[in-house]
Amino acid sequence: MKNLKKMILRITGAIAAVIIVILGSYMIVMFSAVRKMTPAETSKLTDDVFAVRDKYVNMFLVRSGDDFIAIDAGIKKGAVRDELRKLEIDPERVIAVFLTHTDSDHAGAINLFRNAVVYMHREEEQMINGETGRFLFFGNTIDTDDYTLINDDVLRIGDLEIRPVLTPGHTGGATCYVVNGSYLFTGDAMRLYNGYAEPFPRLINKNGRRARKSMKNIMELEGIQYIFTGHYGYSNDFSKAFSSR
Ligand SMILES: [Zn+2]
Repeated sequence: MKNLKKMILRITGAIAAVIIVILGSYMIVMFSAVRKMTPAETSKLTDDVFAVRDKYVNMFLVRSGDDFIAIDAGIKKGAVRDELRKLEIDPERVIAVFLTHTDSDHAGAINLFRNAVVYMHREEEQMINGETGRFLFFGNTIDTDDYTLINDDVLRIGDLEIRPVLTPGHTGGATCYVVNGSYLFTGDAMRLYNGYAEPFPRLINKNGRRARKSMKNIMELEGIQYIFTGHYGYSNDFSKAFSSR
C-alpha cells in the first residue's frame, strides 16, 4: 500500500514537472517573440488605411466614405478606444470587423465595435467551438456569439471589395484579406523582417508546416501594393518581401 502511494506520488510529480517544463518553455518563446515584434504606431498609413497599435499588436481600419471596416480588433477595449481618439475615429463608425483569427490579441476588444458585423472564416470557428485546441487542449474564446461565418467569396461593403484568403497554420482558419485588390492584411500568417517576408515564429503557430504552405499561397497573390501584418508593421514593396535575399 505504502509503495503504491509512493509510486502514485512519483508519477504525479513527474507529470507535473513535464507540464511545468512545457508551459515554461512556451512562455519563454512567447515573451522573446513578443519582444521582437515591431508593430506600426497608431497613424494614418495611406489615404484610406489607418494602423491602431495596442501594445504589441496592430489592428487596421480602412475607410469607406464616412464608415470604416476593421481588420482585427486589438486586445483591450479601453486601449483601442484611446488610440482611435488620437485618429479622431469614433468606434461607432466601424461597420464591419474582419478577424484574421481568434487569438485574444486580435479579437479581445471586439465589443468596442457595437455597430459592426463581425466576420470570420468558417474554418476558424473550430478554434472557438471546442473542436480544436489552440494550445494543448485550451481553446480560444471571443466576446460575442454574434458573428458571421464567411468562405472564400468576395464581399462588398460600401466601395470596398474584400477577398478572404484562407491561410491556415497559425490557427486552423487563419485568414488574410485582400482589400480592393491591392491591400493585403496578413494577421499572423507571416512576419516582416527588414521588409522581407518570413514565417511567423514556429512555436506560436498551431501547425508550422501548414503555415509555411500558406505563405507560398500569399506569395502567389497578384496586384498587391501594401502588406499590413499583425505584429511586424507594413511594407509597400510586395516583390521585395517575397524575393530571395
Ligand atoms: Zn497575434
